[in-house]
Amino acid sequence: MINIKPLKAFSDNYIWLLESNEDISVVDPGDAKPVLDYLENKNKNLVDIFITHHHFDHTAGVPELISKISGSVYGPKNSYELIRDKVTEGDIISSLGMNFEVIEVPGHTLDHIAFFNKENNILFCGDTLFAGGCGRVFEGTFDQMFDSLNKLKKLPESTQIYCGHEYTKSNLVFSIGVEPENSDLVLRNSEIDSLIMKNGSSLPSSIELEKKTNPFLRCDLLGDNIQLMQRFGLKNPSEKEIFTHIREWKDSA
Ligand SMILES: [Zn+2]
Repeated sequence: MINIKPLKAFSDNYIWLLESNEDISVVDPGDAKPVLDYLENKNKNLVDIFITHHHFDHTAGVPELISKISGSVYGPKNSYELIRDKVTEGDIISSLGMNFEVIEVPGHTLDHIAFFNKENNILFCGDTLFAGGCGRVFEGTFDQMFDSLNKLKKLPESTQIYCGHEYTKSNLVFSIGVEPENSDLVLRNSEIDSLIMKNGSSLPSSIELEKKTNPFLRCDLLGDNIQLMQRFGLKNPSEKEIFTHIREWKDSA
């Protein structure tokens, strides 16, 4: 049986651990120290490293960890230099007996990928889809980010979402500004502080919950949203226009 656990790094990053009895693999080790401490304290071996995109806060621990691995460093092509196995859309990676399919999700960065385990519906999606929000569009276009989020939205509703940062509270506060009358969203926001207090993390989220409460996955439902109409003067906007306006609103919030 594999457990998934968060290790915290910097102020709000998550390094995700896959853990079996003796081994661990890690996703996006932006800092080596929490991983090295865990290996020592729990007497585990490090097998594989997964990288979702090249940003420093997701990769900076790799140089120190790479001598410890018995497996590989998996990540996107045209990306971080220490990636050993470059993967693309549809590739399957095995780690600790679990298979992960690679999904290309450009937008936040051009190289961004996600890792999806179909048997247990587990998704590691870095800085693409966040609980209650989505990543900033740094390198790609708004259209690319919209298409990438829609790819993830089509995964099974029970899919557990493990993303790269603890941004949930601030995302929900923003989202309520967009959809003040979304009762699922209002309820989620009212419970988020106690959830984080109890579990130390708001994650994992699920595709089901995000489809109910994350405006970036609800662009198909926001065509007559009063907040967006008043703020941007939209008339019959396309889903992509709605996405772009919400993302720009969030960037300036
Ligand atoms: Zn990033």
